Amino acid sequence: MRCDVEASMVREKLGELNKESFVSLVAKLIGESKYVQNNPPELIPEEDRIVRHVMDALLPHSTSTGGGPLILNHVTYKPNRGNLIVEYPGTQPGKILSFVGMHMDVVTANPQEWDFDPFSLSIDGDKLRGRGTTDCLGHVALVTELMRTLGRTKPLLKSTVVAVFIASEENSSIPGVGVDALVKDGLLDNLKTGPLFWIDTADKQPCIGTGGMIPWKLHVTGKLFHSGLAHKVFPSQLLHFFLINFAFFFYFQNNIDACLSLKLQTRIYSK
Ligand SMILES: [Zn+2]
Repeated sequence: MRCDVEASMVREKLGELNKESFVSLVAKLIGESKYVQNNPPELIPEEDRIVRHVMDALLPHSTSTGGGPLILNHVTYKPNRGNLIVEYPGTQPGKILSFVGMHMDVVTANPQEWDFDPFSLSIDGDKLRGRGTTDCLGHVALVTELMRTLGRTKPLLKSTVVAVFIASEENSSIPGVGVDALVKDGLLDNLKTGPLFWIDTADKQPCIGTGGMIPWKLHVTGKLFHSGLAHKVFPSQLLHFFLINFAFFFYFQNNIDACLSLKLQTRIYSK
């Protein structure tokens, strides 16, 4: 109940997505899409072109300018090909929630094969059109708007909120540029303790997350009693019993993926 109240208070404070602000940012990003096509060696993206627009939106609410709480970290491994980590600090140390994967490169587009210019935003009714609108510059803009709103409205949150905008997602022939390098450097280690939403889609529809993970761990201790082998059989049976029930809980929540993965785990444990 308390959780619901807090969630609705945050919702109220953040308000609705500002349509004009979002569309104007998407237009700037799609305007760069020609230069962030990823198909080496001919086309090497310059993701910093996107980083610059995101930073323009967030810097006024950041510690870099003294204008707000957002902490911006532009991490670059190859010239013009940066990643951007944005953090909105929470009040409780160790509590963290993250959005990762909004990538700033796009797949190639041949304008001759398109009915409209892929490299500039056009609006057709309620459709936003252009290379990268969903995959993934639209999501870059969406999460930028969220972070900007957090920075501006400054709600008191227990969890730190982190957004990781990445370079080089569409092609892996040049390694050490994007998320692989960030992981190797340990820059995403702190995200492991909280829920992580992977934000990207290759389909036509916008989405709020294509994948993600919530890390959890369960420690089961057996009970020593007459003829009981507390350090062996009973803890594993307890764990088995718990996982089966947990799997059914997810099944009834229609979360089949979680259910299947838990079933798999119970099978592994029971061997
Ligand atoms: Zn994508």
